Amino acid sequence: MSSLAPYAVDKRNSRGRRLTEPSPLGRSEFQRDRDRIVHSNAFRRLEYKTQVFVNHEGDLFRTRLTHSLEVAQIARSVARSLRLNEDLVEAIALAHDLGHTPFGHSGQDALNACMKDHGGFEHNLQSLRVVDVLEERYAAFDGLNLCFETREGILKHCSRANARHLGDLGERFLSDRRPSLEAQLCNLADEIAYNNHDVDDGLRSGLLSLDQLSEVAAFSRPLAEVRQHHPGLPERRLIHETVRRMISVLVNDLTETSRGKIRDVAPGSPDEARRAPGLIAFGAPVRREQLELKAFLREHLYRHYRVQRMAAKGKRTVRDLFEAFTSDPRLLPPQYQTKAAGDPFRATADYIAGMTDRFAIREHRRLFAVEEATI
Ligand code: MG
Repeated sequence: MSSLAPYAVDKRNSRGRRLTEPSPLGRSEFQRDRDRIVHSNAFRRLEYKTQVFVNHEGDLFRTRLTHSLEVAQIARSVARSLRLNEDLVEAIALAHDLGHTPFGHSGQDALNACMKDHGGFEHNLQSLRVVDVLEERYAAFDGLNLCFETREGILKHCSRANARHLGDLGERFLSDRRPSLEAQLCNLADEIAYNNHDVDDGLRSGLLSLDQLSEVAAFSRPLAEVRQHHPGLPERRLIHETVRRMISVLVNDLTETSRGKIRDVAPGSPDEARRAPGLIAFGAPVRREQLELKAFLREHLYRHYRVQRMAAKGKRTVRDLFEAFTSDPRLLPPQYQTKAAGDPFRATADYIAGMTDRFAIREHRRLFAVEEATI
């Protein structure tokens, strides 16, 4: 690992695990974190959780699993160019969405509203809760006992109120410091991945058209390039070639802008990088185009009436489940009933947040459809 830059996280400057363990054989500490994440239940559930399109709407839409793999791929490419810790970046990227509820943002908004008087629900905090507490796999501890830097990267956002209870992990939200460069990178790789795959999925679903997207500079420029160099390309290939070029523009801009910022500040350690202003960033013109693209997607895709109908169903499903379980915890599966004895609201939120889209739909049917014979 000697090729890592002085500002990269590595074993020598890591704050380690909450519970000390013997060093792994034949792999780094952060490879071990990544492996624990890949073997977790929450990771496998990502296959049936979605962001914009619900899992049963089509086999080719992104799921949270394929999204997380795309984030990891993008983040690793940039990490390698900037001599950051690629293993750490991969672990953070694969874990960053573990705490997401079923039905994407609508599910999470509904659960947050349900939990308003009971401590709230934040999906980043839930991802941390999954790796710190909820996974029950190891004999010696709850959770996955990941390294500080992996947990720091997973906790992308956090309210000040919750940060106060998180010790060293919450500190940066109270003192306006940034996380490691690896964590900053995963945050932007996430943005690159979802903006571009939402364009691709939006076109595939027919909710967006090439004409509409031609209003957006980040799309229209590569589209014109591809049309010029490859006239008569079938539409699916045209879209893919355009989206791939959009991603390249962003990855190259992110790499070069960040390289320049790092060179200017020349941090000698990860802590110096944490104290500096954000060093992983897009250049201003690309940032402006990304904001334009986001605004376009909000207007034309996320607020599309067909997406809104599915979101409304997702919200209703989450609210119904929450209401049913909290008014009668005996409806919960036995292991959650035990937890509900302590805090029925948090136990219910944990149970619902862990559900995949299809499990939540089935569970709703089991609780509310009187004609169903199955329980
Ligand atoms: Mg994400």
